[in-house]
Amino acid sequence: MTDTMTKPAPINHWLGGKLTPGTSGRSAKVFNPATGEVQGLVDLASRAEVDTAVAAAVQTARSWRTVPLSRRAEIMFRFRALLDARRDDLARILTSEHGKVHADALGEIARGIENVDFACGIPNLLKGGYSEGASTGVDVYSIQQPLGVVAGITPFNFPAMVPLWMIANALACGNVFILKPSEKDPSASLFIADLLQQAGLPDGVFTVIHGDKEAVDALLEHPDIAAVSFVGSTPIARSIYQKGTEHGKRVQALGGAKNHMLVLPDADVNMAADAAVSAAYGSAGERCMAISVVLAVGDVADGLVDAIASRLPSLKVGPGSDAANEMGPLISREHRDRVAGYIGSAADQGATVVVDGRAQTFDGNGFFLGVSLLDHVTPDMDAYRDEIFGPVLCVVRVPSYEAGLKLINDNEFGNGTAIFTRDGGAARQFQFDCQVGMVGINVPIPVPVAYYSFGGWKASLFGDTHMYGPDGVKFYTRTKVVTSRWPDPAGSRVDLGFPQNR
Ligand code: NAD
Repeated sequence: MTDTMTKPAPINHWLGGKLTPGTSGRSAKVFNPATGEVQGLVDLASRAEVDTAVAAAVQTARSWRTVPLSRRAEIMFRFRALLDARRDDLARILTSEHGKVHADALGEIARGIENVDFACGIPNLLKGGYSEGASTGVDVYSIQQPLGVVAGITPFNFPAMVPLWMIANALACGNVFILKPSEKDPSASLFIADLLQQAGLPDGVFTVIHGDKEAVDALLEHPDIAAVSFVGSTPIARSIYQKGTEHGKRVQALGGAKNHMLVLPDADVNMAADAAVSAAYGSAGERCMAISVVLAVGDVADGLVDAIASRLPSLKVGPGSDAANEMGPLISREHRDRVAGYIGSAADQGATVVVDGRAQTFDGNGFFLGVSLLDHVTPDMDAYRDEIFGPVLCVVRVPSYEAGLKLINDNEFGNGTAIFTRDGGAARQFQFDCQVGMVGINVPIPVPVAYYSFGGWKASLFGDTHMYGPDGVKFYTRTKVVTSRWPDPAGSRVDLGFPQNR
């Protein structure tokens, strides 16, 4: 590792509308995964620093909730225009800290902006119901009010999009937001903070506090945080949900995945192979909606494995800053080595290594790994059981639709799945049968558009509401129902009976 000739840049918190150096004395290295160099040192907040940030947020929450809907929408429209204009700059930040190629970073940003589009409609989204004359002289109506101070804890793999899943709706609904981004690629959150300020968001309404477990625990235990949105791995999601709810918070915690693509014998093999390769190796497989298992039904298997394998030699792997490359490095050296370990263990456990990414060599010290294809994988192998989160695609051969469906439904995760077929009846049966939150029919990465909501089932989500879209608005507001009458005081009398609607 070349621990860089130039001094790593400090990456500070964003408090009260400005960059604020940490005081804990603790920091973490931020790497450029394409070179292996340390390019930044991110502050890690102490519990005391989190407490200070929350206290300031509580003060700001009082005024922000009084800002009219029209003004909040206007800020979202301006934020959207700024994000749109600065897509390339933000994408370069993503590439330099995460490693994903520029085109993929632009895709992430586009899907993030969709959530700002949705939040621009907040006056419409927060319209309540009104029942005139629910009883004689009585009207009933509902209003949705913000929760107050809410927090978001986000993963490394989508440093712009996942924060935008949360921020746009939370702020538009009238909440003050504290973001604790991944400490592995924290700079996108500061870029977003700056754009929000330029868009006219009052200082203090959006805070970025960097950190690790210490900061997260402080947020989860703080009595003035009303709700926590989390996206990350399943073990952490489960513990966040438990600790947050124990401390009386509303929590939505999205976890890991193992997404299966079921390919029926009637599928177009070339189309299925194109989809499998795109969805397995895009972003080096570091997507929670990546396809990591292909279930090849019956005699489609041989042709499908050949078609996938034939596409791999031409995939260009290298630094994301070079527009010619299609796949970048993994997030860290440790993660790269862990992913590579699954290729060896699968071979030891009886799988066929059709393409071995470990054989590809790269110049320099970047965290690169070539793409791998494993065939004849069985459900007892580590490569099948664990979320690998890297460019390794497993093919499991199954005799029938029912056998494939059983594997999908027996899996601990239920984030995404896809079926490839030309048979509409089979696809319709699949959408009915599968125990998974997001389903693609001839669509390998079925991330819902922003006016639906995103969420898996089983160990892929802890909580009741999915993220963004209508569920996001529901999560970030509390409903109040008002029963109102304006009677003539002359008719007033005592009545101890339970109020009835007459
Ligand atoms: P991670 O769970 O390691 O980290 C997520 C966040 O939790 C980070 O901000 C991190 O600082 C914090 N964290 C880590 N360890 C913690 C601890 N012990 N206590 C408290 N906080 C802690 O996840 P990651 O490696 O950054 O991201 C990859 C994972 O996220 C994969 O499992 C992927 O499937 C999942 N993911 C899921 C979705 C989804 O929508 N379901 C989306 C993106 C990523």
